[in-house]
Amino acid sequence: MSYRIGTGIDFHRFAEGRDLWLGGVKIPHSKGAEGHSDADVLLHAICDALLGALSLGDIGIHFPNTDPAYKNIDSKLLLKKSYELVREKGYALVNIDSTLCLESPKVAPHIQSMQTAIAGVMGISVNDVSIKATTTEKMGFAGREEGLMAMATVLIKKEEA
Ligand SMILES: [Zn+2]
Repeated sequence: MSYRIGTGIDFHRFAEGRDLWLGGVKIPHSKGAEGHSDADVLLHAICDALLGALSLGDIGIHFPNTDPAYKNIDSKLLLKKSYELVREKGYALVNIDSTLCLESPKVAPHIQSMQTAIAGVMGISVNDVSIKATTTEKMGFAGREEGLMAMATVLIKKEEA
């Protein structure tokens, strides 16, 4: 039985005139995250954790932000493709644990929707998708609401032949 672990971390700036996508869900807020794609910081961290678990590089290698194909793309598609790469290698997800770090908006009311969205894209159980949230107690870039951060850890298991 072969298990592999992966971690991912991602940051985005807040910007006016952008939608805020987190965990595959559009969150009502006065500003959104800046980025080439829809800038979903949580999905990007999970993608990097999935790719990292099999030493497949990172999201920037697979989905370059210089490629017009990924302009404003729904990051759920990037997550789907990242997990497909894992599945092609014969592995399946055991669980995801993740943490969002931002001052506002409060994400607690949206966590269940995010879990449902992520589980739906990957074809896994919502019970295997943990999403937590914290602030930096007003310190640093997140505390000043200049941007936000997400971290994710995934465990994957080689399926029996
Ligand atoms: Zn990102």
